[in-house]
Amino acid sequence: MAKIQMVDLKTQYEKIKGEVNAGIQEVIDNSAFINGPQVKAFASELADYNKVKYTITCGNGTDALQIAMMTFDFQPGDEVIVPAFTYIATVEVIALLKLKPVFIDVTNDTFQMDIDQLNAKISHKTVAIIPVHLFGQCSNMDTILEVAREYNLKVIEDTAQAIGAEYTFKNKSKRMAGTMGDIGITSFFPSKNLGCFGDGGAIFTNDDLLAQKLRMIANHGQKQKYYHDSIGVNSRLDTLQAAILRVKLKYLDEYSSARNEVARKYDTAFEGHTNIISPSRVQNSTHVFHQYTLKIEGADRDDLKNYLSEKGVPSMVYYPVPVHLQNAYRNYGYVEGDFPVAESLCKKVLSLPIHTEMVDEDQKFIIETIKNYF
Ligand SMILES: *Cc1c(COP(=O)(O)O)cnc(C)c1O
Repeated sequence: MAKIQMVDLKTQYEKIKGEVNAGIQEVIDNSAFINGPQVKAFASELADYNKVKYTITCGNGTDALQIAMMTFDFQPGDEVIVPAFTYIATVEVIALLKLKPVFIDVTNDTFQMDIDQLNAKISHKTVAIIPVHLFGQCSNMDTILEVAREYNLKVIEDTAQAIGAEYTFKNKSKRMAGTMGDIGITSFFPSKNLGCFGDGGAIFTNDDLLAQKLRMIANHGQKQKYYHDSIGVNSRLDTLQAAILRVKLKYLDEYSSARNEVARKYDTAFEGHTNIISPSRVQNSTHVFHQYTLKIEGADRDDLKNYLSEKGVPSMVYYPVPVHLQNAYRNYGYVEGDFPVAESLCKKVLSLPIHTEMVDEDQKFIIETIKNYF
């Protein structure tokens, strides 16, 4: 049996090698390495997939978040509401732009922003909410958009982990993750659900003016070459990456189904177990299972992780420390106990291998090994 991996990008590549290699070769033959035709083509295909008016590609997901926030006229000290349980990038760009992250706890079952606490977080300085569609399913966008409308706040969706998830509103209309707020962003980091062979990112919006601004900021603040209307950044998706992504986008739905199949088998295997709690599904969103994240109850998560590692089963802790307790963010004055659910999740969560090429034999071994620990 080959070594089990968290994500098997090699086998995934083997299955689409012909198409991917042809795409790469075409870029090299044309040598338009920056802003080649594949970049535009990919942006337009991804916009169609997401049923969104504009898709602006950029260098990575963190840049995408930064560009999104630079688009609005936020002032230093303005407050942005963001979950305490997320990847650091979401908060990093808030801090870099001298805005103030205002953390909000998440729910213990779905790991999403706890919308019941949203109103209490809003002050006269609040300018935006950043829901993070963590692990592959959407936050409660009905409520988040309602609150945003009521207080005139911008909504920037962090869809780095949930590309392809679909949200159903209370009125039954459906929208893709990343296309519901003012702006949505995603990442094409190799292990993300739609990953390239390096770094890449994209920004989504349905707003004409925002699209213009986003494009301008991502390109040194210029609309016309060498005329700079605003301070911008240099953030581009390489043509080579776009060529690869054009191929992989065609398989994205298939990949999401494969991930769901793996998740379903884990669900079944751990059903009713007292120590192993499977991830809950939210009602209004499909799940694309960027991660399959267990909660370990009544046992030492780290000890289990070491045990699994010794037996050849990799697992990961996303995330071991909540953002408000990270050293770099201590100056905001938060202390232990401020976000009890995020803090408790950091001690309990364990993400299992999940990817598009999981074979039954491997998954059975993973499940058996975990159960044998207890
Ligand atoms: C991966 C990720 C990002 C950042 O994407 P990069 O392309 O690595 O910069 C941002 N937010 C979340 C939730 C992520 O998972």
